[in-house]
Order: sequence, then structure tokens, then C-alpha cells
Amino acid sequence: MQCLLPGIKPLSIWAYIVSLTLWLALCMGVAATVVTLNIRDVEKDLTQYGDVYSDHLNKELVSSETVLKGFSALFSAIGSTDPAKATRYVNHVIETNPHIFALEIVQKVPHGQLADFVARKRREGLAGFSVRSFSYDADRIWQAAEAKPYYYPIVFMEPMPPTLKEVLGMDVDSVPFLKRAMTESLKRGTPVASHPFRLVEGNLAYVVFCPIERGTRGDGRPPADELIVDMVIDAARLTQPVKLPVFDGGTVRVYHRDFEPDDVRGQLRAIAGQSRSPVEVALFPDFVYTRPLATMGEPFVLQVRRQVGWSDLNLGLLGLLAAITLLSSLMLIAYLWTHQQSRAQQIENEKRLWHLANHDILTGLPNRMLLLDRMEQLLARMRRQEKRLAVMFLDIDGFKQVNDTYGHAAGDQLLRIVAERLQAAVRVDDTVARMSGDEFIVLIESVESAEALEAVKQKIQQKLAEGFQLDGQLIRVCASSGIALFPDDGDTSEALIKQADLRMYADKQSRRASARQV
Ligand code: GH3
Ligand code: MG
Repeated sequence: MQCLLPGIKPLSIWAYIVSLTLWLALCMGVAATVVTLNIRDVEKDLTQYGDVYSDHLNKELVSSETVLKGFSALFSAIGSTDPAKATRYVNHVIETNPHIFALEIVQKVPHGQLADFVARKRREGLAGFSVRSFSYDADRIWQAAEAKPYYYPIVFMEPMPPTLKEVLGMDVDSVPFLKRAMTESLKRGTPVASHPFRLVEGNLAYVVFCPIERGTRGDGRPPADELIVDMVIDAARLTQPVKLPVFDGGTVRVYHRDFEPDDVRGQLRAIAGQSRSPVEVALFPDFVYTRPLATMGEPFVLQVRRQVGWSDLNLGLLGLLAAITLLSSLMLIAYLWTHQQSRAQQIENEKRLWHLANHDILTGLPNRMLLLDRMEQLLARMRRQEKRLAVMFLDIDGFKQVNDTYGHAAGDQLLRIVAERLQAAVRVDDTVARMSGDEFIVLIESVESAEALEAVKQKIQQKLAEGFQLDGQLIRVCASSGIALFPDDGDTSEALIKQADLRMYADKQSRRASARQV
């Protein structure tokens, strides 16, 4: 019968898993904080970048707008009658603003005055001048202007290389995207830009229209709203801010609001930095900064996108964190391991101490203390199950004689063998204990009948009667015994042991008497 050990238990595998998981979660939390801060910095940088970029573009566009307004003011003063003055002005302006491709004047001509208008232009030196419509989309085809209430031919263009001579007389009203910007400009009275388009040279450009200022009628000049200046801007010559190179994972787009940002037809500018890998795209956010440019009727929008990638993270710090995590996790495992080892050692020590305190050193049998403890448990169980418990008290007869004759060591040896034989004579569940000297107690649980008990008693006597080989000699000893039954002879350990002892003593007396008679 086993008696459970109270006290320390070894650490369960869950203690390892939970403490390692908690530690790793803490380290991951720190790393996640670093990554989050890095990403937040990227977002902040993007806003800053976008603000500076849009300021730069606004400045450039405002300067174009100012040029256009100046041109408009000039024409409101000199009219279209002095092209030489206008040419000088334009050449000067273009020298200082290389992104201006050309400056033009558009004149509104009612249908009824078209023939006179064309004739006048030819007289003024534009031989072969005619008003024609232009199909921008369908392969740039020139056609005779169809009948309509008003025409908006270009009447002045500077600079005008020979290849572009045919632009004079082009009816701006026939090109839908130019017409839209021009109409809007006339309605607002301020500069308005058109959609982007490709120049004959291939460069991307857009046209900004601005009506000639009001209050300039008179001297036979056309009314103010019948003259419109426009400016062709070569988008390729708009400057890229020097201090703002496009970053990795970034794109800068300037597009017309009538188009989607990624529709090339509406893009004035589209620059992309080093692209990000699919893993980076899947892992990290993509920030977008969008801001309309505050000039020319605000048709253009600046969009700066930035896909966060590895290069945006503080990889040095993250590497250091990973190393610290790895190292500290190994240290934690080592600590838990040594802790477990010392715990195991402690448990082993406790077991040994408990065994020493509860067992007899010579025979290894439970001692009096453990016997009493087990007896208490057994009595409670027998009581509950309403069964009988037999307590057998044994004392070897004439043991002193063995000691005296064969020596103390031989006596010890005899006690060890007796202990083994007693254990062999009973069931595994029954308890054999050494009380002291040559006294043993056997607890036989769940005794079913007097016959069964007698059988056990006989078995024990037989085992002891087999004789003992000590130092090459066969020694025969007997043992006196007494049995007390629970609950018949008492219901406490003390009462039962006492009763069994008394009966053993009586047995010994009768044996001695019989021996004397023999
Ligand atoms: P009785 O027939 O009345 O039982 O007499 P006995 O000679 O067996 O002596 P008793 O039971 O009164 O005393 C037991 C003796 O056992 C006393 C002691 O000298 C001896 N003894 C006690 N412990 C040990 C031990 O651990 N080893 C050995 N060898 N002898 C012991
Ligand atoms: Mg004895």
C-alpha cells in the first residue's frame, strides 16, 4: 500500500509553453511598436513631402498664370493690332519661363462675320488663312469649319516655327477638351487649364485659357470677351523639385480631375520610384496624399502614394530586438531548465527524507509511524466498507540467542530475511511493518472469514519454519503471534495493537510452557 507524498511537483510542460509564449509576445509587442512608429513616420513624411511638392507646383503654376494674366493685360491694352509688340513680349517671357511652349490669342467670330474676318486676316499678311476645325482624337485631321453660330480661331501664336503655321485659324471650339476649358474660363473670367494632350513634337502639354480683361472695349477693337489668350505649357519642362526625389515604393502623379489618377490620358506627370515586392505590398500599408493644385481653375490634382517597405523600417533596431529576443528566450529556457532540475532534486530529497522517516533502515519495511498512518486510513476504509481488518503481532522467539551465538550481523541478516518472507506470505496490498527489535506487525485487510485468516497465519508460520541460512549454517526460529480483529477487538489502532500484543504474549507464554514440557 502506497502513501502519497505531499509537497513540490515538477513544472508542467504548460508552464514552459506559457512563460515562453508570454515572453515572445512581449518581444513581438516591442518589435510591433517599433514597426508601427516607423510606419507612422512614413505617413508623416508623406504629408510633409506632398505639402512641399504641391507648394512647389503651385508656385510654378502661379507664375505661369501671372504670365498669362500679364499677356492678357497687354492685349487688352494694345489689342491684336500690334503683333510685333506681342511677339517681343512673348519672346521675353519664354526666355525666362522655359516651360511655356507658346502663347496664343483666340478670337470669337460670329458666323455672319466669318468671310470678312478671313479676308481681313489675309489682307493683314496671313496668306491662305482659313478657319478650320481640328480633330485631335482622330489622327489630327484638319477639316473645313462646319456651319455654326460662332468660331474661335487662333489668330496669334508665338513662337511659331514654320511647322506650326497651320495652327493659325484652328477653331479651338472644334476640339472638345479645349472648348470645355475655354468656356469655363470665359464663364469664370479667370485662367482655366485643359486636359493634358500630346504636342505634335510628342511632349505632354496642356493649354491654359484666360479671357482678355473686361472694360477694354472701344477703338474698334473687339469686345473683351471676344478675345481669349491662351498659353501652351510643355509639361515635360515643368521642374521636378530638386530636393524631392521620388522615394522607393512611391509614385507622384499630377492628373486632371476629369480622369482617374492612373488613367494616362489625364496624367500631366507620373513618376515612380523603385517598386516594392509583392511581400512588402501584402505586409505593409500604402499611404495616399491627394491635394488639388490651387491654380488655373483647380483642374489638376497632385497625388503622392507611398507603399511602405522594408527600407522604411529601422532594420538595425529590429535586428537588435530579434537578437535580444533570441538570446533572452534561450536564457529563459536555460533558467526554466535549471529551475526544473533543482525542483527535481528537491523532490528527490524530499522523497528520500520521507522514506527515511517512515521506513526501517535495516529491512526497508514501513516503521511504526507509517504503520500507524496506514492503519488510520485502513480503519476508515474498513469502517466505510463494513469489512474486517486483522492486526497480527509477531515476535521472534529466542532472537537474543541468535545474536549471541552468530553475532549481531547475522541477527540483522535474519531480520531482513524474516521481513522478506512475511511480505511474500501476504498480498501486495497488505502491510508488513517492523515495530522494533524482532517485532513485526502484519495488517491483513478485508478479512472474509476465520478460515481465511488462519490460512494466512499458517502460511506465515510455514515461511518462517523453512529455516534460515546464516554464515553457511541453517538456523531454525519460530515466532509467537497474536491477532486482533477490527471491529470485534477494538476500533482504534492503539487498542488493536495492544490486543494483538497481549495475544502474542500469551502465545509466547504457551509456547514456552510447551517447550518446557518437552
Ligand atoms: P523472546 O523469545 O522473549 O522474544 O526473547 P528474545 O530473545 O527474542 O528477545 P526479545 O524479543 O525480548 O528482544 C529482542 C532482541 O533483539 C533484543 C536486542 O538485543 C535484539 N535486537 C534489537 N534490535 C536489533 C537489531 O536491529 N539487530 C539485531 N541483530 N538485534 C536486535
Ligand atoms: Mg523476541
